[in-house]
Amino acid sequence: MTSGLDAMSLKAVFFDMDGTIVDVPYDWPRIKKDIATGGEPILSHLQKLPEPERSRKWAILEAYEERATSEAVIREGIVALLEYLREREVRSALVTNNSRKNVDLLLGRFNLRFDLVLSRESGLWKPSGAPFGHVMCEWGLHPGECCVVGDSLFDVRAALEAEIHRIYIVNEDPRIFLETGAEVFPSIPALHRRLCIHLF
Ligand SMILES: [Mg+2]
Repeated sequence: MTSGLDAMSLKAVFFDMDGTIVDVPYDWPRIKKDIATGGEPILSHLQKLPEPERSRKWAILEAYEERATSEAVIREGIVALLEYLREREVRSALVTNNSRKNVDLLLGRFNLRFDLVLSRESGLWKPSGAPFGHVMCEWGLHPGECCVVGDSLFDVRAALEAEIHRIYIVNEDPRIFLETGAEVFPSIPALHRRLCIHLF
């Protein structure tokens, strides 16, 4: 959204991982069907289950994640964008519902570095705003100093719940974000150009 916020106040960017910094072949409708989430977010659903159903369903999710992670491809323009933010002393956090194991695999494989990583082991999961709230608290920042970069409605919902109104979505289909107030970009380089206007 064109938020009217002071562009120069941007101090931190919160990145989603899957679908945002890497392209990954997740078929979420199929995964949700296999796990039978009943329309709930997957992690919230799993957390509530009794054993042994819980472990059995976690194994389904982890198998999908392992396969997708092994096939992940870094998105064009991410390295340049992270470098650009570092040069301008804008902090970057990776905030993902994926596991630390998969985060470490991907960051290692693509040689990426973030100032802070929050994975699902924190117990703070999108679409709740709690993970973003946690990072802002750690860094002593308020929502007007931060922006969220993601690819899905989960990222938008989490940002809005955390009262972050600068939301940048990288997705080839802008239609699903029409009512959300998020700004949608077809690629990371397009987002990078937008941030250049913001920052200098
Ligand atoms: Mg994503």
